[in-house]
Amino acid sequence: TQQTKAGWKLEQTYAELPEIFFSKMEPNPVASPDLVVLNEPLAKELGLDPEVLADEEDILAGNEVPEGSEPIAQAYAGHQFGQFTMLGDGRALLFGEQITPSGKRVDIQLKGSGRTKFSRGGDGRAALGPMLREYIISEAMHGLGIPTSRSLAVTITGETVRRERMLTGAVLTRVASSHLRVGTFEYAVRLTEAENVKALADYAITRHYSEAASADNPYLELLRGVMKNQASLIAKWQRVGFIHGVMNTDNMTISGESIDYGPCAFMNNYDPSTVFSSIDAQGRYAYGSQPHIGGWNLARFAESLVPLLHENQEEAISIAQQEMNQYGELYEAAWLNEMRNKLGLMNEEPGDKDLIVQLLNLMHKEEADFTNTFRKLTLGEVPINSDDFKNWSTEWNKRLERQDASTEEVQQLMKQHNPNVIPRNHRVEEAIEAAVERDDFSVMYRLLDVLKDPYAYSDEQTPYCNGPDPEAGTYRTFCGT
Ligand code: AMP
Ligand code: MG
Ligand code: MG
Repeated sequence: TQQTKAGWKLEQTYAELPEIFFSKMEPNPVASPDLVVLNEPLAKELGLDPEVLADEEDILAGNEVPEGSEPIAQAYAGHQFGQFTMLGDGRALLFGEQITPSGKRVDIQLKGSGRTKFSRGGDGRAALGPMLREYIISEAMHGLGIPTSRSLAVTITGETVRRERMLTGAVLTRVASSHLRVGTFEYAVRLTEAENVKALADYAITRHYSEAASADNPYLELLRGVMKNQASLIAKWQRVGFIHGVMNTDNMTISGESIDYGPCAFMNNYDPSTVFSSIDAQGRYAYGSQPHIGGWNLARFAESLVPLLHENQEEAISIAQQEMNQYGELYEAAWLNEMRNKLGLMNEEPGDKDLIVQLLNLMHKEEADFTNTFRKLTLGEVPINSDDFKNWSTEWNKRLERQDASTEEVQQLMKQHNPNVIPRNHRVEEAIEAAVERDDFSVMYRLLDVLKDPYAYSDEQTPYCNGPDPEAGTYRTFCGT
């Protein structure tokens, strides 16, 4: 593969899969591309020269493709709020896989780049606000140390998109270790010929779980790997109060990265029933339901792999079932690990879960801010003024004394797992509004800067620690704009 002046070094191994998995694309030009945000550190990590890239607005808006790119839109299906549907990249274009200087292979995808074979009734376009939102949240997740797709650039198109009103059109350049989804497997097994599932599973193993290739049952190892990575991912979401908002199976990756930042938001007051998404009336994807939904989605993945797990179907189903039975424990172990870290617990004691749950129950009752409660505990401040909290704190201190660690070591561990700042909804809105309404991107840049290392506990972060104005109404997020 040759390298372009900007540093593009693209391959397209995905197009070696059977043709039912993708549709070849032509660029879908827009009127006048204008780059508004560029992630320079990420560009460099990818082997791209930010200065040359800044001149490649036509590429970042999808008017042209980089040399060597054979763009495609990916086919997939998925369960949306429990209903199986054929989907696919309806407004995305995959340039290919960039080979980074460190030898990593990552997808470079444009989002909002126009209609594809999979657009159904949609216009294939995206508005500036939601693309900036994805940029902010995905970069914040990265700063939090949570596996995630990244955002390389946002380019406005010089065109408007029609939603409830006319909005500024934009294209996001998204970077991910791949865009393989649980929904890609559901598509293969339910809507195509059986041999395609094997081709897809082999591809996923090569790309993400290469150690599985030499296992006795590689496809069982693939299932285990995805289960482990997703359990670990969701435990991390819970640790920081992240609510994905639309955990449909098409938004769950095989790599274990978070992807698709539509109606997501961070919880303020601790309440497991918290939902921000306006379309999630039933609370299917509430904060406290995420671990269970993760299991539900993984069961759909396991079902897709059944034809590969054993030549006898009954045996195969039993293997899949046995594996899925492990999910509860797997998730709980990952979650306990995250929560122990939040409380500065370095070893394991059988009473730890009770201690954690007691604190959470107390926070729920007192409507305590999730992030700031743990932040104050980290700083040795009293987060909640009540006798119940005092009693809990006494037990916690006794527990800390029973372990062999200094106060400094405990605080160090807590600082690494309790963010000082999160992308508060009102701060995210403020940044997007300044950019969209007043063409002022400085508010967003300041926010991104503060979120770069949320565990820094720096003075610059202090103004960003506050929760929302208690007078502010319920925050709502919207999908698919
Ligand atoms: P999402 O809710 O972002 O996961 O998207 C669900 C499905 O709708 C995916 O197949 C998207 O490609 C598709 N989609 C979302 N917005 C549009 C749009 N404006 N035009 C065409 N397809 C879209
Ligand atoms: Mg999606
Ligand atoms: Mg989306």
